[in-house]
Amino acid sequence: MIISVASGKGGTGKTMVATNLALALDRKVQLLDCDVEEPNAHLFVQAAFDHRETVTTPVPKIDQRRCTQCGECEQICQFKAIAVLPDTDALTFPELCHSCGGCWTVCPENAISLDQRELGVIETGHRNGIFFAHGRLRIGEAMAPPLIRAVRATALPDRPTIIDAPPGTSCPVIAAMKDTDVVLLVTEPTPFGLHDLQLAVGAVRILDIPCALVINRQGAGDDRVLQYALQEKIPVLMEIPFDRRFAEIYSRGEMLIEAMPVWAPRFRALYRQIETLVVYRKAAAR
Ligand code: SF4
Ligand code: SF4
Repeated sequence: MIISVASGKGGTGKTMVATNLALALDRKVQLLDCDVEEPNAHLFVQAAFDHRETVTTPVPKIDQRRCTQCGECEQICQFKAIAVLPDTDALTFPELCHSCGGCWTVCPENAISLDQRELGVIETGHRNGIFFAHGRLRIGEAMAPPLIRAVRATALPDRPTIIDAPPGTSCPVIAAMKDTDVVLLVTEPTPFGLHDLQLAVGAVRILDIPCALVINRQGAGDDRVLQYALQEKIPVLMEIPFDRRFAEIYSRGEMLIEAMPVWAPRFRALYRQIETLVVYRKAAAR
């Protein structure tokens, strides 16, 4: 089972839920931090890293001696990453390239070879029985999805996967949620929380993935998130009360289930509910 933990906006407690869910389970699991622009699950998991690798993506490199300036590469590129101008060498803009391969496929002179652009690094490690992986996007790099896919590719085949997705509803979130069995949306009961939750639910429904809610800081706002969940038939699987002690635990980089062990069985119960939801959904789809 692959669970992605997501939220329509940052600061809802998504990483807190993902890390505590993973560490509470009494079985081998893996936690993949796909929030590659701002990974912070490692601060809580404290995994011992034993592998680090640089992730690159292919970009074109033009051999000007072979180039006839026919312009076919510029025409096929949908991202303005190549410019063929009169009286000058054909130019490439590697930062705009999406590595689709169009230009080196159409070039009639075989003038385009592959260069590599660094996207970032992935690191993997363990804590007790948990496999942990995260990615760090290179500063200045705009394309997070390929690095997120590289983090997901580290997943071991024999255990449940929990993905800490980036916040929001843009391409990186889709890359983290795509092909998962269920999306656990973490939200807070405020007007901003509701607004961003509605956007996130819209994105999850486009992907046709079942979703469930965790409401964090319950009691800090109003009941409009609960009403929305009821209206949209989205199960609310956990409510975490608005309590200063939780913020203090989080700010010290501690795990909630360790600082307040009463929460460990609650996160295990959350996992069982998610499992039931997925089994029910798969049975209904048959
Ligand atoms: S397709 Fe090849 S030959 Fe034509 S402009 Fe591009 S690099 Fe030059
Ligand atoms: S690989 Fe694709 S995106 Fe990159 S420069 Fe070539 S055509 Fe454009």
